[in-house]
Amino acid sequence: MIVSRSVIHVDMDAFYASVEEKYNPSLKGKPIIVGGSVKNRGVVTTASYEARKYGVHSAMSVFKAKKLCPKGIFLPVNMARYKEVSKEVHNIFKRYSKLIEPISIDEAFIDTTGRDPLFIAKKIKEDIKRELNLTASIGISTNKFLAKLASDIEKPNGLTIIREEEAIEFLKPLPIRKLWGVGPKTERQLHKIGIYTIGDLQDYDIKVLVDRFGKKGREMSYFSKGIDNRPVEIDITTQSIGEEETFREDISSVEILIQKLQEYSLNLSHKLEAKGYIARTITVKIKYEDFSVETRSSTLYIPTNDYLTIYSTSINILNNKFNSCKKVRLLGLAVSNFIYPNDPVQLSFPTK
Ligand SMILES: [Mg+2]
Repeated sequence: MIVSRSVIHVDMDAFYASVEEKYNPSLKGKPIIVGGSVKNRGVVTTASYEARKYGVHSAMSVFKAKKLCPKGIFLPVNMARYKEVSKEVHNIFKRYSKLIEPISIDEAFIDTTGRDPLFIAKKIKEDIKRELNLTASIGISTNKFLAKLASDIEKPNGLTIIREEEAIEFLKPLPIRKLWGVGPKTERQLHKIGIYTIGDLQDYDIKVLVDRFGKKGREMSYFSKGIDNRPVEIDITTQSIGEEETFREDISSVEILIQKLQEYSLNLSHKLEAKGYIARTITVKIKYEDFSVETRSSTLYIPTNDYLTIYSTSINILNNKFNSCKKVRLLGLAVSNFIYPNDPVQLSFPTK
């Protein structure tokens, strides 16, 4: 039996602005605009829903936003704070699924195959509200593309389901720009051949699309019919595991650095083994006595968790890719670009 996949897409509402509100409740209900400064010709990163009423939106220049909304509260981007809250949101997701794919600081896909996605979506919304005093919009569907579209329908604080049998009709009137992967360039190319809506694309001969756009043409044709077989993937590619140490006294001896790398390599090899990962990229980081930082990497042909390979690669990087004669304040070693050869979670889900 093939269980049809179920995916939810969670998108935090006006995330940066809402986090600012959470930390400073006196801002509640005011037009908050997070972004750069006028002086540096900055742009708006996030506008609260109150600010949006004045026509302010993200990617607009802060200069223009000030004109539209002179009483707006303009705040700088406080990334450390948003990352912290993002982590807490992610911890809530982890209660409900092991298969989570973060796609940005405030968005993620969660695989809910074989379970009740509506129940899980409501729980996640409740937890986010109760514990973090924030709201999220959630879309539920049978794949990533449709789930992401669904979360956008009732923003903010929305909860929308697109059922498999409704997909074609739902997609038909939407502009092709709403199709996954269609940016301004592809949009122009599609306009040229008379395709303006997703419905136009549904009716278009797939062979012609493939001739014109290659693999992407096939993908667009499938997406236009609500077919998207991409699995929800745990994102381990952006992660790294590292070891580093700031020395009590700045170091000029290469021997000591090599000794440190040996120690780090051994620890990293153990950690990789424990997680069941193998890594392709080895990175050495050095902070010098003047606080300048350099990082140098090497990517292996064959991914590894082997201590000697990590160690010898790190020595090579140290000897060949750094050429400073300054003293070293901090030395770090990290492995990244993981492959997870036997992912038990992913294998337990059918990919249709
Ligand atoms: Mg968002």
